[in-house]
Amino acid sequence: MKNNLVVLLLLLLTLSACQQKDTTEENVSLKMIEAVDFSHVKISDSFWSTILQKHVTATIPVCIDQIENQTGRIQNFENAAKKQGEHSGIYFDDSDVYKALEGIAYTLVNNPDPVLEQKADEWIDKFAAAQEPDGYINTYYTLTGLENRWTNMVKHEMYCAGHMIEAAVAYYQATGKRKLLDVSEKMVAHMMSLFGPGKRHWVPGHEEIELALVKLYKVTGKQEYLDFSDWLLNERGHGYGSTGGNGEWNANYFQDNMPVKEMSSITGHAVRSMYLYCGMADVAALKGDTAYIEALHRLWDDVVLRNMYITGGIGSSADNEGFTEDYDLPNLEAYCETCASVGMVLWNWRMNQFTGNTKYIDVLERSLYNGVLAGISAEGDRFFYVNPLESKGDHHRQAWYGCACCPSQVSRFIPSIGNYIYGVSKQAIWVNLFIGNEAMIPTSQGDIPVSIQTNMPWNGNVKLTIGKNYNGEIRLRIPEWANEYKLLVNGENINTPIDMGYAVIKRSWKANDSVSLDITMETKMVAADPRVKADEGKRAIMRGPLVYCAEEVDNQQTYDKISLNNKSQFAETYKSTLLNGIEQIEVQNSNTSFSLIPYFAWDNREAGRMKVWIDYN
Ligand SMILES: [Zn+2]
Repeated sequence: MKNNLVVLLLLLLTLSACQQKDTTEENVSLKMIEAVDFSHVKISDSFWSTILQKHVTATIPVCIDQIENQTGRIQNFENAAKKQGEHSGIYFDDSDVYKALEGIAYTLVNNPDPVLEQKADEWIDKFAAAQEPDGYINTYYTLTGLENRWTNMVKHEMYCAGHMIEAAVAYYQATGKRKLLDVSEKMVAHMMSLFGPGKRHWVPGHEEIELALVKLYKVTGKQEYLDFSDWLLNERGHGYGSTGGNGEWNANYFQDNMPVKEMSSITGHAVRSMYLYCGMADVAALKGDTAYIEALHRLWDDVVLRNMYITGGIGSSADNEGFTEDYDLPNLEAYCETCASVGMVLWNWRMNQFTGNTKYIDVLERSLYNGVLAGISAEGDRFFYVNPLESKGDHHRQAWYGCACCPSQVSRFIPSIGNYIYGVSKQAIWVNLFIGNEAMIPTSQGDIPVSIQTNMPWNGNVKLTIGKNYNGEIRLRIPEWANEYKLLVNGENINTPIDMGYAVIKRSWKANDSVSLDITMETKMVAADPRVKADEGKRAIMRGPLVYCAEEVDNQQTYDKISLNNKSQFAETYKSTLLNGIEQIEVQNSNTSFSLIPYFAWDNREAGRMKVWIDYN
């Protein structure tokens, strides 16, 4: 494995030498693939359009109502500006407001709305008014005692700053307005005046600032932000965290147990880990630092091969919101925070860009269609924080949470879904996810219009059309779940090489040329790794990227008795009026039958029990 890794890294270095994009002269990109962000992509299929529409009409309004009316989150900023009144809620509640603003910014890109934009401007004015003259901004410390700031590394000051930066960059890119960007740069200047080489040590108790600083670097071109991010990453694992002040510090929980470049096992809190890995990947890409990437490869094996649920969810334990022993994956008690599944999407996206390997998109897709989508209700107005794979009937989505990281996470993630469909490199357009859309891909040959028509995830036919002459490769991902498929160019069968999971189709494309990928969509029975005790003697059902589950509401009389065997037959039916339209699976045994629905759609009807893993005999 190690030798392969060295070869791969050498290959990456060679490739990167002739492929410098969006970097300064000092920094060399290690990336093989550049992202095509969602502003270039207009989603058009019915599955995702429904989710996006509900995001605008339900999810964003719910977030605004909670932030302004149901909780004191905006009031905290108003009080901080006036230096009077109390702080309400949790010390990191500012971050929810920033994340909701980031969601609003993304929404405005494809759905301009002057009223929504005005709301965002109002919020930003309130943030700016709450900033201290020295640049510091955090309503908790402003309202509870500014003298205590920067005394406790577990109090999320840099975490909140990171989310503010992400919102600021998003809003600047969406509207060209830079007020929050200026507020963010002032806060970063304040932090850099205190912390850094030759100054104070600091290990952020919840990672996030690292990836945010890279975004700020990319939009401002200021090298010091990238360097500060690199410095923060390398502060971990030297014992500085334990000297950080008042908070209780557990090095494993905070990913402070060893220097990050030496890591090979995931530890502690799942969301923290995901944000850390994203930060490492971002800095590695721009600094050309392969030691980060070697660590990320080791960590990926540990997460995906030994600690991931079939849903792509991670972090099995509620105690630490994170990891325990390898293969410890209980179903009823599974934690699988929605934010951690979003983190898996963010991290695997980056890993794919380094390697050009579809195995990362396979994981991304699994986490997206199961772990992430379960986090939001069919109507877009209720949320799961915890995503177990079994329920006794007492686990339900809520309108909001005291700790509201997951609702605000979903609100910023959904409108950016277009990020994950395409990539681009000097010689190729990369197609990763099968989501219907019309896109404009910025290539070295100019902007190339590309569209995808598909009815995924319900059937396996995908048609990609090129809108303009293009001389290069289309690299089309063949998903891991595709056992049988046909590839056609302009209706003719083709045989084409597969490179790291991509079908590589190289030619001089003419306008209106098309590629069809027709995958036979099969319902499959899946067994867990035998080392997972919780799934012994059980099987789960998958169809394409979707994990299915049995819900009591569909199986009132039979729920306790349902089982699978090697003769079980499956019949799929599309139900257009059920749960926004889903493919339901009817399982037929010799003398019983029962129904399954996609896991992401559970708990949208009558309350009841649910299970993913079903007895097999
Ligand atoms: Zn969360």
